[in-house]
Amino acid sequence: MRYLYILGACGSIGSQTLDIVRDNPQDFKVVGMSVGSNLEIAKKYIEEFKPEIVCFRKKEHIFKISYDAKIVYGDCGLIEISRYHKYDNEYLVNALVGISGLMPTVEAIKCHKTICLANKETLVVAGDIIKSLVKEYNVSLIPIDSEHSAILQCLSGEDKKEVKRLIITASGGSFRDKSRSELLNVTKEDALKHPNWHMGSKITIDSATMMNKGFEVIEAYYLFDIDYKHIDTILHPQSIVHSMVEFKDGTIKAEIGTADMHTPISFALYYPSHNLKASNYLDLLNLNLNFKELSFDRYPCLKYAYMALEKGGIYLAVLNAANEAAVYLFLHDKISFLKIEEIIYQELTNPNYEKYQYCLDNILQVSNMIVNKILLDYGGIK
Ligand code: MG
Repeated sequence: MRYLYILGACGSIGSQTLDIVRDNPQDFKVVGMSVGSNLEIAKKYIEEFKPEIVCFRKKEHIFKISYDAKIVYGDCGLIEISRYHKYDNEYLVNALVGISGLMPTVEAIKCHKTICLANKETLVVAGDIIKSLVKEYNVSLIPIDSEHSAILQCLSGEDKKEVKRLIITASGGSFRDKSRSELLNVTKEDALKHPNWHMGSKITIDSATMMNKGFEVIEAYYLFDIDYKHIDTILHPQSIVHSMVEFKDGTIKAEIGTADMHTPISFALYYPSHNLKASNYLDLLNLNLNFKELSFDRYPCLKYAYMALEKGGIYLAVLNAANEAAVYLFLHDKISFLKIEEIIYQELTNPNYEKYQYCLDNILQVSNMIVNKILLDYGGIK
């Protein structure tokens, strides 16, 4: 039996995790759950899975539930869920969006939970710190993201010294067929129509700017201990090849399959078993695979991710915070699409942040400071 704590249970990854739990009650028990502002779905999931501890996003969201459960809320509530500890074989599925996912991961590691990670910010802003905690507390951290799940599988049984490069595939996002000049007047409605995946709005915008792929490069660097100079990205519109590893002898290993997130979620939960019975299988007879270069000129945000890695330390948090604020402003019609990358570049090249040492406190403090500054400067939002 695996005892699960699911953060972001009502989102896309959380809901699909619950699908797997529903189909395999003999293997899973949901002990903790954090829910967002969609209270209708929250109610449905809480009553169905009856977790022992529930975290609401805000105090005013709390509603009465039909059984006895510990109720918590806000960022402190997320920490309480991560620290809740009652069983031997506990898993934290972190599907939160944003830097609020960082501290719950840290606390869950300290409670010896296995981490199934879908929250990007955890590794983007604090990769080195998380890596050393994972080692210190001797826990497993398994990626849920399809790209990293693919690379994990391709590297299985291999000697990393023989790896030439990791190749992370990108679907290209909602604007993959548009030129730079055509991006001038795109709207959030255009951006939210992703051709291959249905995801939350933040990550859909990050896919359109390609910042999402940049984050995945950073995550891969920390997950697999491969120099980022040997991590490449490639445009692959069909999302069939989920990522690849190229070896020095010319061999390329790829993990391919349908574009269904249930598969990598299940692989993380059952790691290293392929236990899921898929609902549909890849039609090999009608495959059409294309690859194209992902250019830094077309997608500057991808370049900024490598810049942040090069600068290192607190600048990874700077990259993330600037992006988080800029995407928020775009989603609230305060700035244009292309302004997102401009704001990120401005912060990333600001030398004032150099004085901040790389530690959890500063990561949180600097992130907060940057988000507040950008929201005020460009959106008049306090
Ligand atoms: Mg991905």
